[in-house]
Amino acid sequence: MNNKIEIIKGDITILEVDAIVNAANKSLLGGGGVDGAIHRAAGPQLLEECRMLNGCETGQAKITGGYNLPAKHVIHTVGPVWRSGNNNEEELLADTYKNSLEVALENSIKTIAFPNISTGIYGFPKEKAASIAIKVANEFLIDHPEIEKVIFVCFDRENYEIYNAGITTGI
Ligand code: ADP
Repeated sequence: MNNKIEIIKGDITILEVDAIVNAANKSLLGGGGVDGAIHRAAGPQLLEECRMLNGCETGQAKITGGYNLPAKHVIHTVGPVWRSGNNNEEELLADTYKNSLEVALENSIKTIAFPNISTGIYGFPKEKAASIAIKVANEFLIDHPEIEKVIFVCFDRENYEIYNAGITTGI
């Protein structure tokens, strides 16, 4: 397990990192869950900047400022909605992590925090999602030592326990 990966339980909007990742929807114009919490904490200027981005495809990622957040930037990514598992959901979820990390690199971001993308309203099975997230982060950190810290922020206890189990079993 890469020692640059940290797992915490709590609210992603209070973290002082270079970037927090938002589990947004394709419009990038706000929503419920972590998206709503990030927009509330960042203030209305975030929505103004998001309006200029013309949305985002599933699996892709786009960056904005952090405005009133302690984080300098927000990387908005769109996770897949879980349907049956036969609609490329796993690859698309891996893409959200990979593309967010690529955007981080391009913007000299060294510390980045992720929520548990797609595991809320979008219904992705939590264990599968955690193993994808941890695997992508591990591989990316090996290839890109410039990234100093990847934090997985678990809002609910179930995800926190799953991530910790995943770390100890080395998935
Ligand atoms: P999605 O539509 O991608 O499923 P959600 O926002 O519904 O997005 O949920 C994604 C994850 O974010 C869920 O695990 C949810 O518990 C978590 N979450 C909700 N609010 C916050 C928050 N303030 N900080 C971190 N994680 C949060």
